[in-house]
Amino acid sequence: MRVLIVEDERKLAQVLSSALEAEHYDVVVAATGEDGFYRANAELFDLVVLDLMLPGRSGLEILQTLRQRHVETPVLILTARDGVEDRVLGLDRGADDYLVKPFALPELLARIRALLRRGRSSEILRLKVANLEMDLVARRVVRGDRAIDLTGREFELLEYLLRHQGSLVSREMLARDVWKEPRRATPLDNVIDVQMARLRRKVDLDGAARLIHTVRGVGFVVREGEP
Ligand code: CA
Repeated sequence: MRVLIVEDERKLAQVLSSALEAEHYDVVVAATGEDGFYRANAELFDLVVLDLMLPGRSGLEILQTLRQRHVETPVLILTARDGVEDRVLGLDRGADDYLVKPFALPELLARIRALLRRGRSSEILRLKVANLEMDLVARRVVRGDRAIDLTGREFELLEYLLRHQGSLVSREMLARDVWKEPRRATPLDNVIDVQMARLRRKVDLDGAARLIHTVRGVGFVVREGEP
């Protein structure tokens, strides 16, 4: 599997490329938007990891032009933490998935595997469990015919749970991948529990089958039916 990484931060590009090489991917790194565009356009890749903040030609421009030229290689975009707008624009312009910086390498590798399994499809931009559906582009959540209004953090939390549905999600995973504060002085457990309780009140209303389950002392799992 051939992967193109378009990333101007040299250190990050190096870390990514060694992690991917360790998983036996064939990796090409482009350090500028120009080079990234040229290669993605001229060579064949199974996947492109595309940073959006690049000097010269931006990630969004590259993505848009590639799609206009019918280059259908799956693209995973890397966005800044506060770049919600970029994320939405990126998905709108044909990205297949996104990760917010900083991210943990295991999460990146899992996303890459998922994308390579599915190939190009919009499936990944909609997450579903039972009658709950998340649209990552429009940032809308519905359960049955009821729209659910979530805060930014609640949305990220639910998205993470749905991406890992059926598997146990620990508080450590949430601290690392959603809060992105793995080395905080005070534990995040209380914050996580409070947010989770709020999310659950919105998602699992009285009468509806429960989707967010607590596994005592360990974490949470999203699934249809009891774990
Ligand atoms: Ca950058």
